[in-house]
Amino acid sequence: MLNAFSVDVEDWFHILGSPTVPAIEQWDSLESCVERGLEQLLKMLNETSTRATFFWLGWLAERHSDLVRKCQEQGHEIASHGYAHVLPWEVGAVPFKDDIVRAKKILEDITGEQVRGFRTAGFGITGRARWALTVIAEAGYQYDSSVAPPALGRGNKPACRDGTCPAIARGDKPACRSGTCIIDTQNGPLIEVPVTGFVLLGLRLGLLGGGYLRIFPKWFLRLATWKLHVSGYPLILYVHPREIDPHHPRLPLSFFRRFKCYVHFGSTMSKLRCLCENYDFVPLRELADTVSACMTSSAGY
Ligand SMILES: [Zn+2]
Repeated sequence: MLNAFSVDVEDWFHILGSPTVPAIEQWDSLESCVERGLEQLLKMLNETSTRATFFWLGWLAERHSDLVRKCQEQGHEIASHGYAHVLPWEVGAVPFKDDIVRAKKILEDITGEQVRGFRTAGFGITGRARWALTVIAEAGYQYDSSVAPPALGRGNKPACRDGTCPAIARGDKPACRSGTCIIDTQNGPLIEVPVTGFVLLGLRLGLLGGGYLRIFPKWFLRLATWKLHVSGYPLILYVHPREIDPHHPRLPLSFFRRFKCYVHFGSTMSKLRCLCENYDFVPLRELADTVSACMTSSAGY
């Protein structure tokens, strides 16, 4: 079973969902800590012979082009996380397109290669932003990895819900649970590679990424991965460089956000290493290439 390892490359101040998050005009005045976590990740991936996809924020890539090239030179895929970490349903279609086109060009200028993949900030393809899939295809991306399990969705209903997922409406088995699919948008086909969702006590969780990855113990992650594989789904995990670096500055957040964003940093690397030593990972573009035909109607996109 092929799995995918992805990294959303952003800094400690690129958190969403709080009024205390600094505006983009302030970012240049803040200390950047992305290199510390990123270097540790690259070392671990190299030691476990794991190749990953790095979704770079365009703003950060402009300032760390050497790190972008280092990721590329180690055989990892360079993909786009947009330029300014915006949510599509907050900014609207035109600014969203400008943002993701700008990021794509920056990354392609740095790497000299076509950037095929995109992941929006905050897994922001929710029910109120289904139009964003068309915009992503129009911007020239071939695959997207912005659809998250419902528990992760921001604002309105998440787009990916069993049976009502905009990406999947085929047959009685919702392939979008953790599988890939092809969305036929008005601007052509777009392959969707959602991050892994997992059902626990009736709740659909983003088990293999962010706070969930840090909270659950290794044995549970292994058990959940086994269950995913038995069900025929790949493991698609995501991590941020700041989650590797427990010494980065903290933002003043609400109790819940603080818990979710900052809990158990010390456990992240050992869990990632454990997963990399026990499962085969490929960059998301290789998983996208394996997608079988699963076309859906273009209506509504
Ligand atoms: Zn992000």
